[in-house]
Amino acid sequence: MPKHQEQPYEQSELYRLRHSASHVMAQAVMEMFPGQARLAIGPPIENGFYYDFNLPRPLTPEDLERLESRMREILAGKHAFQRRELSADEARDLFADQPYKLELIDGLEAGGTDEYGVETSEKPVISTYSHDTFTDLCRGPHVENTQEINPDAVKLLSVAGAYWRGDETRPMLQRIYGTAWHTAEELEAHLAMLEEAKRRDHRKLGRELEIFVFDDEVGPGLPLWLPKGAVMIEELERLAKETEANAGYVRVRTPHLSKEDLFLHSGHLPYYAPNMYPAMEMEGTRYYVKPMNCPMHHKIFASKPRSYRDLPLRLAEYGTCYRYEKSGELFGLLRVRSMQMNDAHIYCSEEQFESEFLAVVRLYLEYFRIFGIEKYVMRLGTHHKRGLGKKYVDNERLWLKTEDMVRRAMVHGDVPYVEAADEAAFYGPKIDVQIWSATGHEFSLATNQVDFAQPARFELKFVNRQGQDETPLVIHRAPLGTHERMIGFLIEHYAGAFPVWLAPVQATLIPIADRHQDYAAEVAKRLRAAGLRVEVDDRGERMNAKIRDAQLQKIPYMLVVGDREQQADQVAVRLRSEEDLGAMSVGAFLDRAQHDIMARI
Ligand SMILES: [Zn+2]
Ligand SMILES: [Zn+2]
Repeated sequence: MPKHQEQPYEQSELYRLRHSASHVMAQAVMEMFPGQARLAIGPPIENGFYYDFNLPRPLTPEDLERLESRMREILAGKHAFQRRELSADEARDLFADQPYKLELIDGLEAGGTDEYGVETSEKPVISTYSHDTFTDLCRGPHVENTQEINPDAVKLLSVAGAYWRGDETRPMLQRIYGTAWHTAEELEAHLAMLEEAKRRDHRKLGRELEIFVFDDEVGPGLPLWLPKGAVMIEELERLAKETEANAGYVRVRTPHLSKEDLFLHSGHLPYYAPNMYPAMEMEGTRYYVKPMNCPMHHKIFASKPRSYRDLPLRLAEYGTCYRYEKSGELFGLLRVRSMQMNDAHIYCSEEQFESEFLAVVRLYLEYFRIFGIEKYVMRLGTHHKRGLGKKYVDNERLWLKTEDMVRRAMVHGDVPYVEAADEAAFYGPKIDVQIWSATGHEFSLATNQVDFAQPARFELKFVNRQGQDETPLVIHRAPLGTHERMIGFLIEHYAGAFPVWLAPVQATLIPIADRHQDYAAEVAKRLRAAGLRVEVDDRGERMNAKIRDAQLQKIPYMLVVGDREQQADQVAVRLRSEEDLGAMSVGAFLDRAQHDIMARI
């Protein structure tokens, strides 16, 4: 098994390199629009960096070229990156003509947000970094000097609109994306990967393959699943239900909304309110659509007295949740407002915890095997002492104990993980799972959380062996994430060429001439009766055009039928890879297809 115990990106040299390149780009932009460019923020991101600017005119592709060549000149200069700490007032003087920086300085001074305007529990020191003629509000880190950035491994990629602080009521800025690597070869490989990613973009393929659409009148972030998408959802749920039934889960169903009281009780209100839809009032009572299923599952646990013999109790549900995301932050299926979650809550005793937690982690690994996901990272988020009572439940003993239990489970299971301090959930340690698609695109799939706070809030109890009341621990888990995110990932991972078991249409029958249509229809009927998803292409097109269209639709099997096949009760089988398997009996084809479907390969 590959080991993924890599150093966190934030501490890597590439991170410092890209962050430094974003400062150099900002310098070039300032020079292009002297006295007119307004700076927002410019962080490193996965595989590159960006910087947001308010500029007097829209940037053109030629501008990007000019900026890039100016950056190369600056890089040649060996300008050192120098750090300086300063007071809020000094910073205000320095950035007097930079309104966005002034807003960020206010946030830094008050505490609660960092120099990117991102929420933080700390009160950061105010510092700047300067190189050559450019100074930015920044806490670093940076490379020593500009010569450490390879001018042949830097590229500006694109310009996009981005709202200041992701807020659609604030100004629309221009975001320049760039990338920086150690070597020109690495840059080349990355650009090739970007081309491939464009080809696999789930928004593009989702439309072409008729999997999902968005409709203005329905609303942003609310996908409509087309028949082919619905088939994929059914198949994923079948996989989850089979796997979970084998692992001893039981299934429940809960409503989409509940009274405000439930979310007050759980502590989601007011804490989680910004991510929830506003309340609706009915018969004098306020109701909310649910952002998560947990409180309702807790109520099911509490619906009757429980004893140690009932534990572990594993309640599973593909629950539909609704979360408010700013419209500027919605992104295809990967960031949506309605989601169907592969949710479950495991109620167990402390003695059962390690094996239950490990079983969940093994479930993730089993799904990774099925989907051919070879690269992943499990990131254990733990608490930090200073956040106790604020961002974390105030119970240090339970924090230390549950973190230790999770660590033990991971080590005993020989599951590679990295530890991230101060990244726990509010009510317990969590494992964030990041996966990489076949082209190296990173997705965060789901979290697996330990919860020692909610069970107590809901006064959940079971009678232990000694006849005493004990509070169970809860594990929240969703290995298949949400249908939205999972299918978005799978479209890109497979470039739309899904394995047979998941393919919306598994085979298409292609009659060579009109006189073969009846035979094609009859074969289709037999295959459907055996459970296959089959179409007949009875259009008046030529055979080659039909084959090409089926390949574009990425249908796994094309079954061509003409005189010879009709007489011999056969089909001529072609794969979407263009491989020609030749003629075989309908029964032989069915055996082959069913084998692949059963094995989910
Ligand atoms: Zn910076
Ligand atoms: Zn939950």
